[in-house]
This record gives sequence, C-alpha cells and structure tokens, in this order.
Amino acid sequence: MLYYMEMLGAFVLFMFLGLMFSPFLGGCFMIMLVLFLLGGFIVFFSINFIWFLIAGLIFYSCGWVVKFYRWHKLPDMHKYLEQNPQCRLSHGVACNHCNSDNIKHTGLFNQNSRWRYYTCNSCGHTLYRFMVL
Ligand SMILES: [Zn+2]
Repeated sequence: MLYYMEMLGAFVLFMFLGLMFSPFLGGCFMIMLVLFLLGGFIVFFSINFIWFLIAGLIFYSCGWVVKFYRWHKLPDMHKYLEQNPQCRLSHGVACNHCNSDNIKHTGLFNQNSRWRYYTCNSCGHTLYRFMVL
C-alpha cells in the first residue's frame, strides 16, 4: 500500500513538473514519463516472469531426476529373476506380488523413451527396468 502511495506521489510530482516544463518541452515530458513507467512495468514483469520460468524449469528437472533415480534403483530383468526365481515362466516373467503374467512395459519419460520399465497389469506393481539400446 505504501509503495503505491509513493508511486502516486511521484506520479503527481512528475505531473506537476510536467505541467511546469510543458511550455518548454512541448509536452514531451509527460509522454516520456508515461513511456518510462510503461517500460519499467514491462521490465519488472518480464524479470518476474523469467524467475517464474526458471523456478518451473528447476522443479521440472528435479521431477525428472527423481524419476530417473527411482528407475535406476529398480532391478534389471536378470537381477529380478535372481531375487524372484518363482517368477521365471516358460513364456515370460510373472509379477512377484500377485503371480500374474500379464505385464506391460512403459517408457519412463514418454511412450518411446529408451528408459523403460515393466509393471504388472493386475496389481500395478513396478517390477524391473530395462533399457532400449
Ligand atoms: Zn501383480
């Protein structure tokens, strides 16, 4: 609130000065002042916008790092079958939670991602990771 009062005070002062100087400067002063204020506002908001964008990017990349770290912590297929020997089936791999053989692979970042992982279609558990070469 105080900030706006100061702004208003400065504006009134400049308007007064503008009226005083307008006969000499031909009214250019007010136009310049308006342009200056407008420019100031644009710079102020664009700086805030850039920080907003940077904060968003940082959050976004943190999400990716966390996602990748979680993926990296998953066992690969070899390790998964070593830990869960009962999951090795003649035609594939079963879920170690519900023993369903209905599993699907998903990309980590998007559907065509090189970093992929298998999840169980029945219980939704994440089973193991693999990477497309
Ligand atoms: Zn399952």
